[in-house]
Amino acid sequence: MSRPFVTLLLFLFAVTTSCTRHTAESDINLNSVDLFFAVADSVAQRQNVAEATWDSLAHSDGYVMAGWQKCKGLIRNALLIAFHPDSTETRNTLLQSQLSMSDPRFHTSLLVRNYVDMKQHWSELQDFRRDYDYASIQKQARQTLQQFLPNFVDSLLMFPNIGFICGDAECRSKRSGITLDINYFYKYPEVGIRVLTHEMFHTYRAHFEDREKFDSIPVLWVVNDLQNEGISDLIDKPLDYDPVAEYAKMGYPEQLAQMYLEAVAATSNKMARLDSLTLCWAHEQITKEDYFQQTSTLFPLGGHPNGRYITNLLVAHGLQDQLLAHFADPVTFLLLYNQVAAQENLHVMSDEFILLIVLLGA
Ligand SMILES: [Zn+2]
Repeated sequence: MSRPFVTLLLFLFAVTTSCTRHTAESDINLNSVDLFFAVADSVAQRQNVAEATWDSLAHSDGYVMAGWQKCKGLIRNALLIAFHPDSTETRNTLLQSQLSMSDPRFHTSLLVRNYVDMKQHWSELQDFRRDYDYASIQKQARQTLQQFLPNFVDSLLMFPNIGFICGDAECRSKRSGITLDINYFYKYPEVGIRVLTHEMFHTYRAHFEDREKFDSIPVLWVVNDLQNEGISDLIDKPLDYDPVAEYAKMGYPEQLAQMYLEAVAATSNKMARLDSLTLCWAHEQITKEDYFQQTSTLFPLGGHPNGRYITNLLVAHGLQDQLLAHFADPVTFLLLYNQVAAQENLHVMSDEFILLIVLLGA
């Protein structure tokens, strides 16, 4: 066994034993990041990395939390392309190519871009990982969330586990916690806190959602998603949010930003379609299953573009207080929408639709 390899093993052992201990206040886990840093340093020095080490990396806490435990090949491939001294040509070819999201190499290229970016400030990133005040994340997120919840009930706030990874810029909300990319967090810590708060809003709001009612009345389910994402986007996306710039910052191709903008531009048509489909369901011309199937693609990208567009309009019309006072009430959300729709040249929901949802949602 070569000496550098023994050193790496010892380092990995030290890292693993020191970082599986979560901080008492916040359950913030950096295990995946520390293992990644150690492996990347070895690769950069042409040292052998054992199969078991790649396994440990893919099965480290943050990657497991993100659901990437089966992505050993993806992580290894991207790491080798980004860090190995003999990968320069492959790396440059990949970085110069404009891959569409349907290209099988797309996700690898996303990771490679991020890893190459990490290399540009490698020692600063390691200092940040070591010195950042992680315990302050909880306090900052709580303060941000309180600004959006007028009658904040402290006991209902659940601070999620956070697993930092080296991956893409996407923040992932999973049953076991939330994962954040350490490099994105290093570059934009305030954005990272706000994205985290966005996810905490969903968890908090879930206490107030009548899921049973939503399940039996599908229009409430659909509008609930719009309201949920619309309000939570107020938390992490400023009013002048530019999807083209933001998606580019995250390494996503412009086609995704175009999808976002197209969805926003079609808000009026989508609300008209929601109106007519809902009345078809109410008149039993389509089944609940058909209704869900037809509305499932109506508001793309998880309902973010249209939800955010509507909440921003409500804020612009001075209705933020009413919006937030009824933060888990899709019926009020639609009534507020109808108050501003005509002035904004948007489809005004029909009287029959409004009567229906008021009666059903009561
Ligand atoms: Zn969300």
